[in-house]
Amino acid sequence: MEQFTDTETNLFSAMVYRFDVAAQKLNLGEGLYKFLRYPTREISVYVPVLLDDGRLEIFKGFRVQHSFARGPCKGGIRYAPDVTLDEIKALAAEMTWKCAVVNIPFGGAKGGIICDPPKMTPGELERLTRRYTAQILEFIGPETDVPAPDINTNEQVMAWIMDTYSMHARRTVTAVVTGKPVELGGSAGRREATGRGILVTAREAIKKLDMTSKPPTVAIQGFGNVGSTAARLMHADGYKIVAVSDIHGGIYNPAGINITELLAFTGKNKTVLGFPNTERISNAEVLELPCDMLVPSATENQIHAKNAPNIKARILCEGANGPTTPQADVILQENGVFLVPDILANAGGVTVSYFEWVQDRYGYFWREEDVTSRLHETMIRSFHEVVGFAEKFKVDNRTAAYMLAIDRVAHVVKMRGYYA
Ligand code: GLU
Repeated sequence: MEQFTDTETNLFSAMVYRFDVAAQKLNLGEGLYKFLRYPTREISVYVPVLLDDGRLEIFKGFRVQHSFARGPCKGGIRYAPDVTLDEIKALAAEMTWKCAVVNIPFGGAKGGIICDPPKMTPGELERLTRRYTAQILEFIGPETDVPAPDINTNEQVMAWIMDTYSMHARRTVTAVVTGKPVELGGSAGRREATGRGILVTAREAIKKLDMTSKPPTVAIQGFGNVGSTAARLMHADGYKIVAVSDIHGGIYNPAGINITELLAFTGKNKTVLGFPNTERISNAEVLELPCDMLVPSATENQIHAKNAPNIKARILCEGANGPTTPQADVILQENGVFLVPDILANAGGVTVSYFEWVQDRYGYFWREEDVTSRLHETMIRSFHEVVGFAEKFKVDNRTAAYMLAIDRVAHVVKMRGYYA
């Protein structure tokens, strides 16, 4: 077995480390172990884009397909300057495990382009998206691999991907992506789905720990689609949001922040900073505040060996993918922090992506309340399956989620056999 020393900084190493821990506990045979440890396909593309000033720039992009054992590959596409192939490989595998945890019939994939969206114009982003789509065209499709939004991509980007794919197919293929605008075959409730899933699992965790006697206090890192929706829904549910942050920094008020007013403020000011009656703190400080629950919803490796001992929250509910490193996991567990791991906590997004894909293929669209109630059902069932697994096998919740997922994927791989 390979030994990794960089699990604190390399997301792929961290994913493989966690996979190894779970695989050993499951006594996965050597063949299955090798089969599931690596992706099925890694695609790298160099994407030429004409910039608005007339220059040509080449952007590097990836799409990694980890597994299609349980169904089409599924996963978002992120646009960010620090995207790496290892990161995308890790996130692709995490999508396989995530889809298996919530038991939807998909495998896992992830895409990324190294670029800096805030510095690009809408026209440049559109040309980048369309050319990238053209370069991965033969590898995606409703039956093969279905992209979705992730960091710095949104409904508009999905509409461009859908249109580019459709122009080549010579017909409108809505089911090639999820997270589309509702008018273009998107699902009601998809935009809120990840944040709503976080609320639902957080609520289950609070009940499980008998913390229902007073409104829980919550600190949220990240105020993008996931963090801001989680904040809004938790605030509406009576939770006391004491701190939030965005890329510029954080704000804190131990008496609670009015999220409705904050959303109006960020709509105008594009940052949480400067919101009245709050103290300015750093992004790192948000993680270490006294609170009942911490919801990291920004990016990976935020909670690591150095700051994990300072975490005071009783519950860690991971909105982001991979916010906690393996060494931090050990420290948090020793300190009795109850973990709702990413592949469970943030699986609401891909769950409603599945509902969207079903609706597109069916050509029949559901009411928002039906989407929401099915999402609730899936998240509550999955939470109890993971926690039940943890109790039965006496492992932490992350290992339990990995074990549950790997077991489900391994089972179908065994049934399908190895085609030679
Ligand atoms: N990017 C989201 C995630 O990491 C959603 C993926 C999807 O809906 O396919 O789970």
